[in-house]
Amino acid sequence: MHQPDNSPEIYLQIPPQMWQQFCQAMSQARTHNEETIGFFFCQRHQVSKRQIRYLPRAWVVPTPDCYERQSASGLVLKQEFHLYLLNAYLRSPGLHVVHIHTHAHPTPALFSDVDDRYESEYARFLSSHFPKKPRLISGVFDASFQQSQWRLWDRKGLSYAPVNFSHTWFQSAATREAIASPELMFARQKIFGTAFQKQLGQLSVALIGCGGIGSIFAELLGRLGVKNWVLIDPDRLETVNLNRLLAATPNMVEQQWYKVEYVKYLLKRIYPTGSSVTAVPAALSSSTVPGEIAACDLIVVATDNHYSRQIAQELAVKYMRPLICLGTHIDVKADGQPRMYCRVTVPPLGGGWCLMCGNIINLQRAALESASSDLQQIAGSAGYLEAIDDPAVFWLNSICASTAVGIVHGLVSGFLQLDSGIDRIYDFPASTWHQTAPEYLATPDCYFCSSRSSQRASNAPDCFGNKEQESPPQWFWEAQESDRLA
Ligand SMILES: [Zn+2]
Ligand SMILES: [Zn+2]
Repeated sequence: MHQPDNSPEIYLQIPPQMWQQFCQAMSQARTHNEETIGFFFCQRHQVSKRQIRYLPRAWVVPTPDCYERQSASGLVLKQEFHLYLLNAYLRSPGLHVVHIHTHAHPTPALFSDVDDRYESEYARFLSSHFPKKPRLISGVFDASFQQSQWRLWDRKGLSYAPVNFSHTWFQSAATREAIASPELMFARQKIFGTAFQKQLGQLSVALIGCGGIGSIFAELLGRLGVKNWVLIDPDRLETVNLNRLLAATPNMVEQQWYKVEYVKYLLKRIYPTGSSVTAVPAALSSSTVPGEIAACDLIVVATDNHYSRQIAQELAVKYMRPLICLGTHIDVKADGQPRMYCRVTVPPLGGGWCLMCGNIINLQRAALESASSDLQQIAGSAGYLEAIDDPAVFWLNSICASTAVGIVHGLVSGFLQLDSGIDRIYDFPASTWHQTAPEYLATPDCYFCSSRSSQRASNAPDCFGNKEQESPPQWFWEAQESDRLA
């Protein structure tokens, strides 16, 4: 049952907020210390030859009335209810099944012989009865959801591979990764721990927009320890950029450097070796770009237009990657007093609200920006679009970029709890940070970001599917399970 060494790493990453709701529903599904069961239905994302992710699109926790029997030693789910679930999630959306059950007994949580037999049969059933041949991932937890064991079954139910499970913003590090020796360069950051530094070293960041804010962000996060980057920006350096680009020179402008080449140059100054920086001098709409972005652990968008932010957000939702959105704005009031703002927005991972439903970006403007240049001219003359040469200064961009890097630091380190997302606006000269309360941003049925999740009763709508279909194997975890654990 061992996987060969050239097989890909399997990841299952559940967004923190979704995981909390799921665990809460699981505890509510028992009255004493009965075993409980819950499901995630997942999409498969092949990141590379070596990495496959399963992304939760919906979860279901059956309520007590969905069980035929439920006790501390095992459980049996009502057959019709089970069939309803499979029909709803496996037939047309073609999702894969993550099946999680608890053992009522004290730790450790280990798969029992009954689990082995049952899950093997179940994996076979799934792949032979549904056209898209869904795979089975199973997890077993102790009653308090502290310890767990995970596996991905093959389609024949004969063997399984390990699964890296996490319920954090960034997926857990690969088990196969060798432990790197601590680098002297980061001696002054030792206080944050070696695990922190190691995770930063493995993190990959897609940076969309390599201008005045993006380049500072790259420099600062690079210095913190991030070595793997994908840089996206179709523009070249211009003289008007030189007031706010660290170490940029008139020579670079003369030689018509792409902005992505310039940021790559910044990162390679920090890491002449041991880093991976891909410079993509192309627009988001280019065909290969979405794939490059989806393969990164974090998406950062620091462009000056709404359309690219919308695309970035859509990719973040589709591939379930954390997104950080950066921007500044400067204007001068009628009395001559300048007002300066910067904004850092991190929508929650896995839905709740996004740049679109949170009104962080304007969809009408995004649509205009994506329209043909003719239409843009008409819109521009009608006052719908701002001029390209928006005012911008280095120091304000730096506040914005620094704050965003601090947020990444907090997310990786774990000292920042951002489960429901954040939206912070800095206001100068008052020099005040304002924070939008996430509950005002939450939108349950957003077209872009809502997911299907619930605690489900056995009388759920559209129940009972096709009666002629062959029945799935019974949920059968009684008696024998406790025998082994006793
Ligand atoms: Zn079990
Ligand atoms: Zn939304």
